Amino acid sequence: MKYISTRSGAPDLAFDDVLLAGLARDGGLYVPESWPQFSESDIRELRGLSYQELAIRIMLPFLGGTIPEDDFAAMVNDAYAQFDHPAIAPMKQLGDDLWIAELFHGPTLAFKDYPLQVVGRLFDYVLKNRGERVTIVGATSGDTGSAAIEACRDRDAIEIFILHPKGRVSEVQRRQMTTVQSGNVHNIALDGTFDDCQDMVKALFGDESFRDEHNLSAVNSINWARIMAQIVYYFWTAVELGAPDRKFVFAVPTGNFGNVYAGYAAKRMGLPIEKFIVGSNENDILTRFFESGRMTMAPVVPTLSPSMDIQISSNFERLLFDHYDRDGKAVAKALEEFRRTQSIEFGQGRWQAMLADFEGCRVSTDETKSAIRNVYEATGELLDPHSIIGVIASQQYEVASDVIKIALATAHPAKFPAAVEEASGVHPELPSHLANLFDREERLNELPNNLDQVGDFIAGKLAERKAA
Ligand SMILES: *Cc1c(COP(=O)(O)O)cnc(C)c1O
Repeated sequence: MKYISTRSGAPDLAFDDVLLAGLARDGGLYVPESWPQFSESDIRELRGLSYQELAIRIMLPFLGGTIPEDDFAAMVNDAYAQFDHPAIAPMKQLGDDLWIAELFHGPTLAFKDYPLQVVGRLFDYVLKNRGERVTIVGATSGDTGSAAIEACRDRDAIEIFILHPKGRVSEVQRRQMTTVQSGNVHNIALDGTFDDCQDMVKALFGDESFRDEHNLSAVNSINWARIMAQIVYYFWTAVELGAPDRKFVFAVPTGNFGNVYAGYAAKRMGLPIEKFIVGSNENDILTRFFESGRMTMAPVVPTLSPSMDIQISSNFERLLFDHYDRDGKAVAKALEEFRRTQSIEFGQGRWQAMLADFEGCRVSTDETKSAIRNVYEATGELLDPHSIIGVIASQQYEVASDVIKIALATAHPAKFPAAVEEASGVHPELPSHLANLFDREERLNELPNNLDQVGDFIAGKLAERKAA
């Protein structure tokens, strides 16, 4: 199994190199050169497997022999050992034809744990085999940072530095990052906004000698291994509910298009999925695109679902690549035009072809609040402001009687307590493994928004750690 860049200007790589590379050298994203195929009988054979067993079957073809099966199986089993539900991704029925898949049973209560717990272990494994170490540096507005920290904590070959905007993340989110007592975890509270944090990270990566000296790396959402590990729960949920003998519609609250793209990959691998409903908040560039065929940038506005407050959905490039018949030069040209003009059409034929798989649904703040309340009153399920967008999106879609709708619940309600309580009148309780979060000791370093000082801080910590 080889991986190719969506811009056709970077070398083909094997799985282990793609894992460590993240972005391709030509600025593109890596995708597998072909999709592993699961026939109806292959899918039937997945019935009765545990989440972990199924995960190994689905992911193994993507490794292309770069990691021995036994070692990989051990990593997968270890990755999900700390999840707080035996099913890992349990499902609940919300209506006649509607189910939710709860993807918030990992350490940080959001679906990003599902891929990152595997990716952190893969990084550590591949690096140790090569005798290398990396310094992961990232910026977070809340969710990604804690999931990355939990995935990398205590891994021998990794030091991780996460920058968050001081005073601008919720207390739950900050404490999920700063109460991790691991020597290789370093939290920086930057005196600035999230954009300042992102600019700082870009500047650190842009300093070639700093980047090479400390072997900087990232675990962001364009990493192929994250997509790979997300394909698993599409198969898992569909098989639990009768695949391949039933058809499915997935409703997915979407930001960077990574989660829903993993579903598209599952469909290309043979899972009988009729449609994906792409849910967005007021940051609705994708919904506008699916409605009109034209993609147009707009400023990002803050909403109740901050992890979806995104305009450029990086993983959309992977879908474009297929719709340009895998002609990376054409993809690069289209994206260059979009960057220049902030608005683009990809052609009537491509747009229609995408509509065969996708439909968009925009959900306002008012609809979000009233639906949290209505679903709670009707079913007793308390959903967070991201998950509810999937549920609303699914309700706007009519299906034949033999089709099952699955809405992905991407975060636990206790991760966004203020919004959930305001909408429903109910205070969501943290699960028991986080119940004492507010009593735990915090470790963080406050730094000014100054490149030299942040660089010196990172270099100093790395030297301290090496000496220890
Ligand atoms: C990251 C995130 C999303 C968006 O997922 P993408 O893969 O970026 O589309 C949705 N909900 C929650 C809770 C998230 O943390």
